[in-house]
Amino acid sequence: MSTTAQPAARKTNRIGLEVLSYKGGKTTLCAGCGHNAISERIIECFYDMGVEPYTVAKFSGIGCSSKSPAYFLGLSHGFNGVHGRMPAIASGALLANRHIHALGVTGDGDTASIGIGQFMHLVRRNMPMIYIIENNGVYGLTKGQFSATADVGSKLKSGTVNELPPFDCCALALKWGATLVARSFSGDKPQLQAILKAAIAHNGLSVIDVISPCVTFNDHAGSTKSYSYMKDHEEPIHTLDFVPSYQDISLEMEDGAVQEVFMHDGSRLRIRKLERDYDPTSKIGALTALEEAEAKGEVLTGLLYAHTEKPTFIENLNLADEALATLPLDKVRPSRAALEEIMEELR
Ligand code: SF4
Repeated sequence: MSTTAQPAARKTNRIGLEVLSYKGGKTTLCAGCGHNAISERIIECFYDMGVEPYTVAKFSGIGCSSKSPAYFLGLSHGFNGVHGRMPAIASGALLANRHIHALGVTGDGDTASIGIGQFMHLVRRNMPMIYIIENNGVYGLTKGQFSATADVGSKLKSGTVNELPPFDCCALALKWGATLVARSFSGDKPQLQAILKAAIAHNGLSVIDVISPCVTFNDHAGSTKSYSYMKDHEEPIHTLDFVPSYQDISLEMEDGAVQEVFMHDGSRLRIRKLERDYDPTSKIGALTALEEAEAKGEVLTGLLYAHTEKPTFIENLNLADEALATLPLDKVRPSRAALEEIMEELR
């Protein structure tokens, strides 16, 4: 008598979804582009954290990076805005529904040039969203001109040398008021995963600057955003473990030099110190470390700064808990009597 083999049970996350529910369309970016690795990390992290895809809204602007939301979280909402204007669109969506998980994906061109003003105000407001900068130092979509994050002395394929100083988006985000600031490298899978999970759990603006090499226009000798440059110059400031709120903590870390950052939802980011003594709760320490690294030609990666108590823009506005679109008319429209009272005051 033969027995029929049962198909193996499919792996699901804590809300019963398979990883397929977090994937998107097939990428059309160049093979080997750092942005593809970041998309993979986003899929893994939202799956691991058990975030309902319909509660996520993806926002982007213009550029290769801004195309990438099509390649992950295909069951989520998405809005591809005009160049550099993604922060305004994301802010509007968050004001309309404070419960969405807002995820912005942008590039160094989109953020540090045409969108720098929008970026400033997003940071200043501590808008509760994740803002990923896929930073390759060039405009990949328009054939690889230098962007405003290109380092002094870095070279294009043509041999042209950049003479202008770069914007450091992490330093700007720190200065202007972001409450979680991190730098990572698209090739550093464990670090980027831990940072992304912390950002999902964070109640405030998370600015994550990810060095993401452009293999077509900026991955040659003389580039400071190439895979080989990052291999030689990446300086992780610590190693990170993220423990989500729903997971029991049964193991104590053996290393005494562990610092914990407690997230709003009860999750913890556990930071194992490396040789350097670095405190991610000190903004001045973070700015100093970035300055020192720049002078030494190092690229510091890791959690640069975390402040988990500062109120967000939505909290400061004291908005209704319900999504604005679901509020009944009597709550959103002033009564005739109220309008007449206002008119009377103005007479
Ligand atoms: Fe990526 Fe560069 Fe290709 Fe654009 S041009 S998809 S940034 S490798």
